[in-house]
Amino acid sequence: MNLILLGPPGAGKGTMASGIKDHYRIPHISTGDIFRTAIKEGTELGKKVKSILDAGELVSDDLTVALVEERLSQPDAKEGYILDGFPRTIPQAEAFDKIAGEYRVLNFILAHDIVVNRLSGRRICKNCGEIFHIKSKPSQKEGVCDSCGGELYTRPDDMKEAILNRLEVYDAQTAPLVDFFQAKSQMADIDCNQPIPAMMEDVLKVLG
Ligand code: AMP
Repeated sequence: MNLILLGPPGAGKGTMASGIKDHYRIPHISTGDIFRTAIKEGTELGKKVKSILDAGELVSDDLTVALVEERLSQPDAKEGYILDGFPRTIPQAEAFDKIAGEYRVLNFILAHDIVVNRLSGRRICKNCGEIFHIKSKPSQKEGVCDSCGGELYTRPDDMKEAILNRLEVYDAQTAPLVDFFQAKSQMADIDCNQPIPAMMEDVLKVLG
């Protein structure tokens, strides 16, 4: 199964991708994760994209498409894959559509004000990566990870200004993909304003 997860930041695409990956044993390919790893490791790619990610802007289509093409050519993606955060523009979608065989799309739906609340309250452990939320999943001691005692931080692109920019970019560049995919592939809507287990149930039901 080749699957695209489409939707605004903070909708839960990454969380759903983990569940789908375990269920169907296909790799979860997140372009955001690929860029963040490159930044953390200080590679040439990382240096090139850091300021773009921090501001919530998009990396160029050429660079992103080449990266995804290379990743999809790896052996673990032969039986299928989950794309999370790609494509994000019409040129990326057109390039993908040309190289991909059959694929399905899940369209994650979440109102902007809920996205802002979710992302601006998100805190991540610098040490183990565990994710907290100041309202819905607070750590016992403010700023300190419950699991490992590491320091909690806010991702630069989870700062309010960057979130608003990401949403603006989403509306302008990514939302038009809904019409694009509706015409090209099988697409199903997923309501993201519900607890994770209920959302996972909806996703697995749709995928069959
Ligand atoms: P994400 O984790 O999917 O929200 O992605 C984090 C950031 O990585 C985005 O705000 C963009 O700066 C960059 N990025 C991820 N995927 C893409 C893409 N398909 N095209 C361009 N930039 C991307």
